[in-house]
Amino acid sequence: MDFLQETGIMARQSGVSTGTKWLAGEGGDIESFSPVDGKRIASVTAATSVEYEQLIRTAEAAFLQWRTVPAPRRGEVVRQIGEALREKKQALGRLVSYEMGKSLQEGLGEVQEMIDICDFAVGLSRQLYGLSMHSERPQHRMYEQWHPLGIVGIISAFNFPVAVWSWNAMLAWVCGNVCIWKPSEKAPLSAVACQRIAAEVFERNGVPEGVSCLLTGGRDAGAWLAEDKRIPLVSATGSTAMGQSVAVAVAARFGRSLLELGGNNAVIVSRHADLDMALIGTVFGAAGTAGQRCTTTRRLIVHKDVYDVFRDKLIKAYAQLRIGNPLDERNHVGPLIDTRAVQSYLRAIEACKAQGGRFVVEGGVMEGAGFESGCYVKPCIAEVQPGMPIVQSETFAPILYLMPYASPEEAIKIQNGVPQGLSSAIMTLNLREAEQFLSVSGSDCGIANVNIGTSGAEIGGAFGGEKETGGGRESGSDAWKAYMRRQTNTINFGSRLPLAQGIQFDL
Ligand code: NAD
Repeated sequence: MDFLQETGIMARQSGVSTGTKWLAGEGGDIESFSPVDGKRIASVTAATSVEYEQLIRTAEAAFLQWRTVPAPRRGEVVRQIGEALREKKQALGRLVSYEMGKSLQEGLGEVQEMIDICDFAVGLSRQLYGLSMHSERPQHRMYEQWHPLGIVGIISAFNFPVAVWSWNAMLAWVCGNVCIWKPSEKAPLSAVACQRIAAEVFERNGVPEGVSCLLTGGRDAGAWLAEDKRIPLVSATGSTAMGQSVAVAVAARFGRSLLELGGNNAVIVSRHADLDMALIGTVFGAAGTAGQRCTTTRRLIVHKDVYDVFRDKLIKAYAQLRIGNPLDERNHVGPLIDTRAVQSYLRAIEACKAQGGRFVVEGGVMEGAGFESGCYVKPCIAEVQPGMPIVQSETFAPILYLMPYASPEEAIKIQNGVPQGLSSAIMTLNLREAEQFLSVSGSDCGIANVNIGTSGAEIGGAFGGEKETGGGRESGSDAWKAYMRRQTNTINFGSRLPLAQGIQFDL
């Protein structure tokens, strides 16, 4: 496994770092097991609360310097991080794939996403624009500018163990912030590898320790960030339960949170759809990454006129899915992250059956040679009613719920009729239907696509969702504004002091 050596992964290493300095990590060891083969890869030490204080102090001191570096200079450093990621793409992509269990193509794709966001952030570093306004008062100038916030806490989930950090960190850095990253305890090695890459570039550029900090630990470490008044922004990606806890803690101290939480994404397959295209989009969306994307297609709402035909196509396509080692590029579906995820998959199948669901493609756990980790499951499909409790919740596994509809209005009602609001799609060649879906009375999600599945997104757009998905937006468009504070400035260059709204105040 050359990729372990190339990414500097040792049998045991610290997971607590201010940059090039690595603290002991006396909070205990986190073992990283690969869901691919069940083998222990290595262990990473977690932070104590005392070590956490050290990270905060170093980050606070670093912010005072980093914020004064001109934004385009900060962008230049981020450009070099992008170059370093290009050099390490193969090794890091393999590590992500082996530690998390996604296909090699997707592991490499995740690193490519990091490179892309670096490029985006470099351009952005010269475009942190504020507006200028016309003052109502004579000889006054009014404009706004954007300043960095300070320490940005980043809590990330296991399924995108490196890309989510980069979406946040690269933008936060060009904006002038410093970051403390609490990665998922289910994929700490990928985080250690990224921290090394970034720290090396920072050191080469004379950037102080503390601009990039790594805080390995469990949910307690995440809660430290959420409760800490010294952290003006906490960007948290993960389950809705985690988001609820983080949102309350951050709001209680008047901090800001940027929440990227669970999805329950649907594709509407119209009777006007190109069914072959719809098939590829939905099968990749539902079974790809073993159903462990926040944008995974979980519900399929199919027009009654094409329902039987499309269901049969799906059944045939699912029969062709090859389940197995994700590093072998012939396989379509890799493992779930761990055996707890397998249990939750099995529980959801039982609940679905108990609530009246009928499986047209049966699920189950794979056994035998190549499946020793116990984490490989069969992607499955159930015919359901939209209101069933199991259909309303996100199970992070490849279970697809199939349901018919009669009118576009009904399809949109079903699509919107869940607590989550991340990604949505309609497959149709009918202009009216497509526009209705995208209109104000259409999808209520943060992402709405036409003739593209729900899964996956480009970094150029703002990424995130509504309702229980948390409302945050990351990555492209003007998502950078979340990492800065807006200041309105009014300057009087005249010799009188007129008050706004014409108010008179004479002494
Ligand atoms: P998780 O909620 O179990 O953990 C995510 C992170 O939050 C981890 O780092 C964990 O240690 C931390 N954490 C957990 N509870 C916490 C608490 N109370 N306070 C502070 N930190 C806490 O999620 P997971 O199993 O790693 O990831 C899967 C979930 O993430 C799914 O629901 C998926 O939809 C969601 N997700 C959402 C997006 C998005 O952009 N919307 C992207 C990726 C994943």
